[in-house]
Amino acid sequence: MLNQKAEVMKKIEKLVIASHNQGKVDEIRKMLKPFGVEVVSAAELNLPDVEETATTFEGNASLKALEMAKMSGLPCLADDSGLCVDALDGRPGVYSARYAPNRDFDKGMDKLLAELKEALEKSPKKGRGAHFACCLALAMPENLESVALFKGFVDGEIALQKKGDGGFGFDPIFVPKEGDGRTFAQMSHEEKDKISHRGRALEKFVNEIFGN
Ligand code: IMP
Repeated sequence: MLNQKAEVMKKIEKLVIASHNQGKVDEIRKMLKPFGVEVVSAAELNLPDVEETATTFEGNASLKALEMAKMSGLPCLADDSGLCVDALDGRPGVYSARYAPNRDFDKGMDKLLAELKEALEKSPKKGRGAHFACCLALAMPENLESVALFKGFVDGEIALQKKGDGGFGFDPIFVPKEGDGRTFAQMSHEEKDKISHRGRALEKFVNEIFGN
């Protein structure tokens, strides 16, 4: 996909967050608050969920942003993200949202800890390394041929057990490398946003769209 021209995108006053994941929407809304853009979620506009049929973060983010920009007639920012675990060959990756049975993330984390334990029993050298990846796609309704992409990553490790009750998804089992040993779920929003995959991708978005 071609990147759109920054001048076109600077016209954004109202932005749809193309996601039904409340955790993501809340994080993006908080991070965009200082920039005076009105943020609405797909749920608030009663937009249906878009099926994620692509096999990459970029592909899924692009199709969600384009589909929702078409449905709403507004600029749309979509986030496709996931947790990639080294010892599981990068899984669950793009399939992170569907990894948890019935989207129950408590069960999903138990499943991941069990899978990792089994993998490490077979190959102890693989270790507990993992990263979160986030790809943001911005689509403008007047140009549904292309999107602008912004990516962010954060390296870390999978904790031995769940810790903390903040954040969402896999936060209680992810310990970022740049932190002090706490999981994302034990950090404040501000602490997580500064180093997270989504925080880093959004920083690039904000610099491009609202920067001078
Ligand atoms: P999708 O991008 O809607 O396909 O879903 C991404 C999935 O990845 C979420 O449902 C979570 O399981 C996981 N995920 C993405 N970002 C985060 C995060 O910041 N914390 C915890 N889990 C996350």
